[in-house]
Amino acid sequence: MDEPGWPDRCILARPFSGLPRYIVFEARSHPLPSPEATLPHPDLPHARDLVAQAERVVALTGAGISAESGVPTFRDAGGLWRNHRPEELSTIGAFERDPRTVWEWYEWRRGFLATCEPNEGHRALARFFLRRGVDGIVTQNVDGLHTRAAAEEAGDGPPDAAFPIEIHGAIARDRCNDCGLRAEAEPLAAHDDTARGTGTGEAPPGGTLPRCAECGGLRRPDVVLFGEMLDGALLERAQTMAARADLCLVIGTSAVVYPAAGIPLATLHGGGRIIEVNPQATDLTRAAEVALRGAAGEVLPELLA
Ligand SMILES: [Zn+2]
Repeated sequence: MDEPGWPDRCILARPFSGLPRYIVFEARSHPLPSPEATLPHPDLPHARDLVAQAERVVALTGAGISAESGVPTFRDAGGLWRNHRPEELSTIGAFERDPRTVWEWYEWRRGFLATCEPNEGHRALARFFLRRGVDGIVTQNVDGLHTRAAAEEAGDGPPDAAFPIEIHGAIARDRCNDCGLRAEAEPLAAHDDTARGTGTGEAPPGGTLPRCAECGGLRRPDVVLFGEMLDGALLERAQTMAARADLCLVIGTSAVVYPAAGIPLATLHGGGRIIEVNPQATDLTRAAEVALRGAAGEVLPELLA
């Protein structure tokens, strides 16, 4: 698997023996900007006016902003993790069949994300909403980078206004698969009797995995797996926020898949406008008042300064 010069494949190698020596991901859906897509952007002054005039702003972010922090996208990755396809591991069916393997995959991802940092795009958004004091970030990302940026940019102040609504969940947190109780994540090894040499090897599947303190059910990472519904209450909060906004920033996402696609449309139907920040044109571009081509980490500090 560790074959250099194979740049169009996702290579996830050597889990649990430290992080892989290198990792190559195809970025089919979220390419980084070409060198010519740099600032100053001719439409930037108009976009800045829209931001200055807006009373209520909502920002929808997707995998593109995280890709700039080195977070891989798995949906189109096309590679393997321990001979499993990542998109097949991230399903509720896989968790029910083989929770340990799915847990180990998420443990690996948690370890990888710990090496990633919020970028200037995350930070500019966090500063913007902290300044306004009203929350407005909706994200499809589960990596927690908005939350980290909020905490870091807030300093000694309250970070809440820059905390995102995470419609797909948060990988850094656990949730009971039965009763839904959320819990702080613990390292998987803390629950692994077999790994400590005290297990009989006959435990039922998942028997040594993290359990709910309330009902004893199996815990799982607090993310929406493929095949699951999104949290209706969270979605409604995001939709309401978007419908009331007079400006929606759509950042690093093609926003073509519902329910996330409904966020900018809610703003549009409410009479608001859209600014798109994306290296590439998307299906949403024609609906946008301004489309700024470029990396979130370059465009957002200029747009939201
Ligand atoms: Zn429970």
